[in-house]
Amino acid sequence: METITNVFGSMVFNNSVMKARLPKETYKEVRRAIDDGKRLDIEAANVVANAMKDWAVENGATHYTHWFQPMTGVTAEKHDSFISPDRDGNIIMEFSGKELVRGEPDASSFPSGGLRATFEARGYTAWDPTSYAFIKDGVLCIPTAFCSYGGEALDKKTPLLRSMEAINEQAMRILKLFGNTTAKSVKTTVGPEQEYFLIPEELYDKRKDLIFTGRTLFGARPPKGQEMEDHYFGAIKPRVQAYMKELNDELWKLGVLAKTEHNEVAPSQHELAPIFATTNIATDHNQLTMEIMKKVAKHHKLVCLLHEKPFAGVNGSGKHNNWSLSTDTGVNLLEPGDTPYDNAQFLLFLSAVIKAVDDYQDLLRISAASAGNDHRLGANEAPPAVVSVFLGEELAEILDAIEKDTSYSKKEKEQMKIGVHVIPKFPKDTTDRNRTSPFAFTGNKFEFRMVGSSMSIAEANITLNTAVAKSLKEFADVLEKSKDFTESLHDLIKSTIVEHKRIIFNGNGYDDDWLAEAEKRGLLNLKSTPECLPYMIKDKNVKLFKDFKVFSETELKARYEIELENYSKTIRIEALTMTDMVNKDILPSIEKYLGEIAKTADRKAKLSIDSTYELTRLKKLSALQTAILGGVESLETALAEINEKSSQKEAEYYHDVVFKKMQELRAVVDRAEMLMPSTVWPYPTYGDLLFGVR
Ligand code: ADP
Ligand code: MG
Repeated sequence: METITNVFGSMVFNNSVMKARLPKETYKEVRRAIDDGKRLDIEAANVVANAMKDWAVENGATHYTHWFQPMTGVTAEKHDSFISPDRDGNIIMEFSGKELVRGEPDASSFPSGGLRATFEARGYTAWDPTSYAFIKDGVLCIPTAFCSYGGEALDKKTPLLRSMEAINEQAMRILKLFGNTTAKSVKTTVGPEQEYFLIPEELYDKRKDLIFTGRTLFGARPPKGQEMEDHYFGAIKPRVQAYMKELNDELWKLGVLAKTEHNEVAPSQHELAPIFATTNIATDHNQLTMEIMKKVAKHHKLVCLLHEKPFAGVNGSGKHNNWSLSTDTGVNLLEPGDTPYDNAQFLLFLSAVIKAVDDYQDLLRISAASAGNDHRLGANEAPPAVVSVFLGEELAEILDAIEKDTSYSKKEKEQMKIGVHVIPKFPKDTTDRNRTSPFAFTGNKFEFRMVGSSMSIAEANITLNTAVAKSLKEFADVLEKSKDFTESLHDLIKSTIVEHKRIIFNGNGYDDDWLAEAEKRGLLNLKSTPECLPYMIKDKNVKLFKDFKVFSETELKARYEIELENYSKTIRIEALTMTDMVNKDILPSIEKYLGEIAKTADRKAKLSIDSTYELTRLKKLSALQTAILGGVESLETALAEINEKSSQKEAEYYHDVVFKKMQELRAVVDRAEMLMPSTVWPYPTYGDLLFGVR
């Protein structure tokens, strides 16, 4: 039997493979490219490409692809085989440095938000040596960034790498001020916990809504949902266990550090958490994880649903983006230290995050905005659409003491002074477990819980990295000029707390009281995607991304357009799917059933038998049938009448008019479903779907 240690990373062209297969000099050059961002010259690239190809072919690969992450949110690949004809009419396997470093996929069919109109239609992909190449389904996949010929980012990786560079530069300035001479770089780290649903394939195949939109557009509540709270961390069913095992095996081969798996709150909902990695790699790995989750499900006659809200009335799925930053020497900068000095550094980084979340709460909200995630954020589900920071009582007390120049605990008599006093160690367990907070400090990292389960984590991390880089820059600007470092540090942390404490909230995020309180504090509550997107291009946000060279104004506006389009298209597809289901399946099945019971009622009447049942059902269902007809026609009219001048207005129309009509239509259909015999209803029910895996 193969052991895990043998399997792990066996399909990855990782450091040890490179060390073993590359000439020493080339290996060093590649390391420099990975660690310091140095460009690899073409000779070295040729050597790497050849070694990669040999390794890939030995491991069964026949093709290669530049693997990239366009704005669709999923990954893209176009396979080319290694084969090349020789003079004798045979083939040889070839792969050049040029092919490794640069590719030219046809960019014209990927979302560009108008960038294509302004610039060249063509785009190119460029090798990202910081993320290892790997073999998937017999194809050597080379992680790449995707840009237009003008250099505009057309993907999610390019800005992510830029944002990592931005925060690296600013964090290094801070570390220098603290006298750190050993660290060469600071990288952000991410561990994304991925939630998903598993349902039987044969039931999925019967639901057009799941097939076309990833979520159920209709479905009456089952008698049992998640109210018994018996699924969370419950025993895992053998079929699901088998799925998880294969999933882990596949992910391990690809070097993904899949670590924890458990049942989630809703029936048939599960979670997988990896061990954290550098943000860029964590993002690549999360994309791979989602892909493999879907693929492996097929082997078990299951379907993996990654939608944020596949079922109304039960919990939706999110992705908890655990985020921190650490030095290349392995120091986690959000880990409280043992000495007053270490603690001062910790508190400074902590303040930087608090300030960033407050200053850019709109951007963080946007980074988790999508039609699917609107069902969670701001829809009485976890977490709320209001961004706030949870610190836990102990840390909050410390910040309070700093702010008010008091001692941090009753036992202490002295004023809390940064750089002078030790802050108490807080047991990790007390720092977390506020599941309602969108942004929680959990001992040595922050957990951003707004991201949707199907989304790429790139946006969230681009935003976090850049916003925190901005705080750090402001801090460094002040501290570098200061005469008394400790004194300035104290003042800086204190003033940051005073200025930004409105974002700190340690209570229950679901409470209506909190929403009222948040409004008083001046925090934003952007409930829907069309409502929050315009904030993306506000001057302060354009300036942020421009200053840190993460997005040019043009790139940002293009992204704004793409997000709006995505939103409108998603709702449109859902609306059209609804009308299709109602017209082709739901109304005809009700009609057929009404015909049958009318006939029975007739016959019964002739025999003078009581037909209360038939007549009552006839009446109720006929009324619902009329309501459904009215609902679907009204939805169709709404769709036909769209005539908005801008993408923003159009998205608002989809939200305010179309989506509202969809909900109205669903309500009457769900009522009809409850009255119809299960033998006649055209679709598997919520009960079937949610409890169907045994
Ligand atoms: P839980 O939240 O269930 O208590 P952990 O705190 O151990 O579990 O980890 C949750 C996730 O956070 C995991 O994916 C883990 O790898 C990740 N994580 C832990 N430390 C860090 C860190 N320093 N940076 C980023 N992610 C981290
Ligand atoms: Mg967690």
